[in-house]
Amino acid sequence: MTDGSGGWRTKAREFAQSTIIPRAEAMDRSDEMPAEIREGLAAGGFMGLGLPTQWGGHPATAADLVGVLEELAVGSAAVATLLAVHLSVAASPIAAWGTVGQQQQFLPSLARGRFLGAFGLTEPEAGSDAASLRTRYTRSDAGFALNGSKMFITNAASADVIVTFATRDPSLGRDGISAFLLPKGTPGFSIAQRLDKLGLRGSETTEMVLANAALGPDAMLGPEGQGLKVALSSLAGGRIGIAACALGVARAGFDEMQRQARSEPADWKRTEVARAFTDLAAARALVERAAADRDAGRPYAESASTAKLFASMAAMRIAHRGFEVAGRTAARAGAPSERILRDARVFPIVEGTTEIQELILGRRLVSGDGAR
Ligand SMILES: Cc1cc2nc3c(=O)[nH]c(=O)nc-3n(C[C@H](O)[C@H](O)[C@H](O)COP(=O)(O)OP(=O)(O)OC[C@H]3O[C@@H](n4cnc5c(N)ncnc54)[C@H](O)[C@@H]3O)c2cc1C
Repeated sequence: MTDGSGGWRTKAREFAQSTIIPRAEAMDRSDEMPAEIREGLAAGGFMGLGLPTQWGGHPATAADLVGVLEELAVGSAAVATLLAVHLSVAASPIAAWGTVGQQQQFLPSLARGRFLGAFGLTEPEAGSDAASLRTRYTRSDAGFALNGSKMFITNAASADVIVTFATRDPSLGRDGISAFLLPKGTPGFSIAQRLDKLGLRGSETTEMVLANAALGPDAMLGPEGQGLKVALSSLAGGRIGIAACALGVARAGFDEMQRQARSEPADWKRTEVARAFTDLAAARALVERAAADRDAGRPYAESASTAKLFASMAAMRIAHRGFEVAGRTAARAGAPSERILRDARVFPIVEGTTEIQELILGRRLVSGDGAR
């Protein structure tokens, strides 16, 4: 767990210790993120990590980012997820695909943490198969009108800008989809509900409604018909971040399991700790490999999928066995092992489920040029 030149991992660990950990249990109970946490993320520069310096971002490698997300997730998976979504699938696609005008409008505020970003792809009837989304857009002289709904969107109720996807015509499949920048306060855009969840409590997950949501003529992000490419390229990077969040939850699970085993040692508990230790080390190696691929400019879709697949399932295994090691005390609501188990369960789902990662990898390994 070495730190990069910017010392970002150390800063994140200190922020987790001082500000997140003391509030994590209450955040889980109330499902609300305290204002001090978002303010601290902004003040610490984390909201601009790796974004272009010309727009106020801070130079950082993918290795720095995974270090930060891991440390934050040890304190709270919800906080790490807020930042992972803001950076990887909201601000980064604007930096990668936006016009200078769009970048100028959003990136300085996103990088400073004055703005929060979100990513609206999933719909009530379209999750893993994003190409089947049904939210439609039509053009008018004034710009675009969006109609449809989005489900399970992280950060959306508080977000200042949401990278949102809609189709010109569902019968066109992936070629009909375009990406849009949907600012807060857009007429016709509303939040229908905030979803109550098993884990990741404190992270907002919402249903968005678009009823003739009126966007200006400059709202399209990237070329028309390339929306799925915008989404998938963002998600490939996003998976490294989500893998790092899962690694942080796995580490929190390991630390708690070790603490519980030490308090009442037994050989079966020693075996569990040894297994968890091995799982954690393997997850770390895969997350670091994916970040190193990205930093070296190598293709990273395969290593990102591998890291996300393994780290999220490792977090689940460690959390599940940690619950056993902790024994009956773990069953009390709010006990560390109980919260870690609920948080871990989310990571095999978000940004491409375990089954979808297996499908992507399997296709590359069997029918493509994957494997090293
Ligand atoms: C806490 C949370 C936060 C989220 N945040 C966001 C967000 O910010 N933005 C956003 O756009 N979305 C977000 N999502 C949505 C998430 O990305 C989707 O839940 C996920 O992509 C799966 O889609 P689905 O839930 O519709 O499940 P489905 O696609 O309906 O899948 C159901 C099950 O079937 C399996 N399955 C589906 N297709 C196949 C296949 N071809 N082969 C084998 N198995 C398959 C899946 O793995 C899964 O187990 C979030 C979800 C959660 C739970």
